[in-house]
Amino acid sequence: MLLSSIDQMPSSSLARYLDGEFWEIKDAFRDAISKSDLFQSSCYERTLDQNRDLTADRLYHILRQPVMKEHLKNQLKEKQKGFINKSMSITEVVCAADMNTGVKLGVVCGLYGGAVNNLGSPEQKIKFYLPVSELQFTGMFAMTERGHGSNVRGIITEARYDQPTQEFIIHTPSEDAHKMYIGNAMKGNFAAVFAQLIINGESQGPHCFVVPIRDENGVMWPGVTVSDMKHKEGLHGVDNGILIFDNVRIPRENLLGKFGSVSADGLYSSPALRGNRFNAMLAALTPTRLGLTVQAMAAMKLGLIIAVCYSHSCRFSICKAALRTHTSEEEQSYQKTRLSAQGLARCERETAVRALSHHTSHLYYDTHHKTSTLSEHRLNCTAVKLQTATGQPSGARTSDGDTSIAESSDG
Ligand SMILES: Cc1cc2nc3c(=O)[nH]c(=O)nc-3n(C[C@H](O)[C@H](O)[C@H](O)COP(=O)(O)OP(=O)(O)OC[C@H]3O[C@@H](n4cnc5c(N)ncnc54)[C@H](O)[C@@H]3O)c2cc1C
Repeated sequence: MLLSSIDQMPSSSLARYLDGEFWEIKDAFRDAISKSDLFQSSCYERTLDQNRDLTADRLYHILRQPVMKEHLKNQLKEKQKGFINKSMSITEVVCAADMNTGVKLGVVCGLYGGAVNNLGSPEQKIKFYLPVSELQFTGMFAMTERGHGSNVRGIITEARYDQPTQEFIIHTPSEDAHKMYIGNAMKGNFAAVFAQLIINGESQGPHCFVVPIRDENGVMWPGVTVSDMKHKEGLHGVDNGILIFDNVRIPRENLLGKFGSVSADGLYSSPALRGNRFNAMLAALTPTRLGLTVQAMAAMKLGLIIAVCYSHSCRFSICKAALRTHTSEEEQSYQKTRLSAQGLARCERETAVRALSHHTSHLYYDTHHKTSTLSEHRLNCTAVKLQTATGQPSGARTSDGDTSIAESSDG
């Protein structure tokens, strides 16, 4: 998906209404994305590694934004008002620009960050998440196993407490315990690993541990094996892999201890009753799952604009054909242009704005602009990113805020 620089236009108040409470943050991200060269290129020929590298670069570009840095720092604080909604707003904009980057952001900040911040102590947040907000390392989230997806309670990866060394030994006892589909597995440095906590042979149920995977030079932590899941059906910029642990030793302090901790001499304590503990732990992670629905919504919004554009282009070509006499060859080539990605991209903004204006102008009247312009700016930025590499200018705007595409032969 491509982005090209767009003229900065003030958002209409409808655009702000549609964007909700965090419209300013959304605009800040749209601006940062549309001005970045990283988001401009269009290429379907990239290798898997090139796709992943580009996604990683894009992720860092997002994480470097001042508004993002501030947001990540807030993630470390207890109960920030509106934090989840703000996260969802950022997710939507980034996913609309590039789903790979949005998903990778979700893995690092939502899943890994969500686990550390929701299940960890204040000290653990500082140790394991602050460096993510400062771009020193990234993390992954390792819950799913080959034999246990929905059935998280049944996971069989083990975390045995070794009292003499005050360490946990993370171990994959069978093939069914392989941690599968793990996003950022080929590049990330730490993993939030869910495993059965076992003390003196007795299991206390699934708990989450921060396990080092590789250092900043890519050197693997002793006992950790990662294998690449390579190509999937899509999202090739996201590096999913399989994690296997062979008696990996981690310090006692790496158990995220909000719902259960182990003292140096091996005594387990938890603020939650055993029956509720697992639910409490998973409930703390629910907001990060919401992100998945927002990712889907971002994709649907893009689909809507493509559909509106396509529908309009078909209707328009029929009208045009009725008004003029075309040879069949002319008509065919005209349709071809209309349906090509470039044609769609060029007319996308205008058609979407126009079609939506038609259908919603009775619902909304922008008194400030004295016109029902609808959210041009928003459409520009959200969907838009359909505009192709050609970067050709969009159709001319008429003085009343409507757009003119009628005379555009290749739009
Ligand atoms: C692209 C991708 C990226 C992923 N990234 C990560 C990641 O970073 N970290 C991570 O930990 N996991 C990750 N996952 C794994 C994901 O969380 C699991 O796929 C998900 O939890 C479902 O598990 P499963 O695939 O084993 O399906 P299963 O649990 O085997 O479910 C298969 C089907 O059976 C149904 N089902 C299961 N149990 C029941 C039941 N009791 N009653 C009725 N129906 C049931 C399910 O609804 C589903 O339709 C990723 C998956 C994908 C595809």
